Amino acid sequence: MSETAANGADGLRRFDAARVVPCEDSTVLADASVVVRDDLIEWVGFRAELPAAYRDPQVPVTDAGDATIMPGLVDGHMHISFGEPRTEEELFIYTPAPYRAIRAAVDAEKVLLAGVTAACDPGGPNGVAPAVRDAIDGGLVQGPRLSAAGRQITTQLGIGDTLPRWVDVAESSFGALVRCTDDLLQEIRNQVKDTVDLIKIAGSGPGTIEYAAFSPEELAIAVAEAHRLCRPVTMHARSRQSVADAAAVGMDWIMHASYMDPATLEVVLEKQIPLLPAMTLLVNSLEAPDHRPFVADAMKHELDAAVSILSKAHAAGATLIAGSESGFAMTPYGEWHTREMELFVTHLGMSDMDALLCMTRNAALAAPRDRDMVGTLRPGKYADLLVVNGNPDEDVRILGDRSRLAAVVKGGVEVTPSGRANAVRQRFEQARRYTSHLHTRAAAGALD
Ligand SMILES: [Zn+2]
Repeated sequence: MSETAANGADGLRRFDAARVVPCEDSTVLADASVVVRDDLIEWVGFRAELPAAYRDPQVPVTDAGDATIMPGLVDGHMHISFGEPRTEEELFIYTPAPYRAIRAAVDAEKVLLAGVTAACDPGGPNGVAPAVRDAIDGGLVQGPRLSAAGRQITTQLGIGDTLPRWVDVAESSFGALVRCTDDLLQEIRNQVKDTVDLIKIAGSGPGTIEYAAFSPEELAIAVAEAHRLCRPVTMHARSRQSVADAAAVGMDWIMHASYMDPATLEVVLEKQIPLLPAMTLLVNSLEAPDHRPFVADAMKHELDAAVSILSKAHAAGATLIAGSESGFAMTPYGEWHTREMELFVTHLGMSDMDALLCMTRNAALAAPRDRDMVGTLRPGKYADLLVVNGNPDEDVRILGDRSRLAAVVKGGVEVTPSGRANAVRQRFEQARRYTSHLHTRAAAGALD
């Protein structure tokens, strides 16, 4: 790729390529250009139709040659504060909040360098995600434009409170436990005061396939209060009942929906509620070599259920959003963001072009702070774009191959890596094991 270093004197810069995929729909423009002024897109179209002002030799040109220019990716579901934990206790308990924040700020760059220029963090502890969002905006660190939730609002039966009942829900947990509707209202108001961009409800528990964490009446109160305070609200809903309730009360989008039943699918279609499956976490967990057999069985069961109902949802015209659940040890930052699109193709029968739209145009729906400014190449939106060697609209797997990603441009500026290495794992990040074996007399004898 040949390029000039900076924008012209009037902030203009032109990107030329053999192919431009704006991702508003399935249109592919051959021999086209994207004109940027400062951090915004000003013009998109065929090069033959370029207005004279943009042909001016004074306008710097980045010639991407045979490559494809497309919008930066939007990851609708990742957790910047999680720090790739190997155990739930590690996620909830050990790491000090200031360390979490510093680590997350560094991890954000890995996400951006993978081509993700905007993302939603639907829930994490200690106000880390809004802080990282602001540090990125302030130019302190590099990362995607973040829409950030606070802690996921949970009952004792939601994923935000999974430790035994005699262990309180710590501030460092990603869950905020509410025990009554008054608590629920206060938590939403506190979070809005803490500048979250969305409210996240932990609407089902780990491994639950039937019941929901909240009653429909409680959910209706949460939706009404979040909307009254101008915040969208989304819900983690894996169980059948939780998906049904989420659809009935009008969640703005629904996470997972694995055990959705056909009657709920009808409601989802009628209300046009987007679905964000995040199957990547299930598939990656199943691939991980050392998980416990009963966990693997539950995940396989859930994946089968999800594939069955979500392929029906896709065939019926439901809006699907790609999100990777990056942030766990099974989904390290910068590694798996694009896999959800591949799974939509292989598991849900989607075309590559449609899958690409799920991580661009559609995913902007789940990045509420920037939803009108990201996801497609359109004049007036942020100049966030990728230069890709190959045709990702014909094979989304290309986007998982970093050698194909010729450039990541955010706000009209090409991102350059800072060269920071992965953090060395710290003592407090380890699960606190005493010993790996039972030290009986016999075992002690065997050591002699
Ligand atoms: Zn999540």
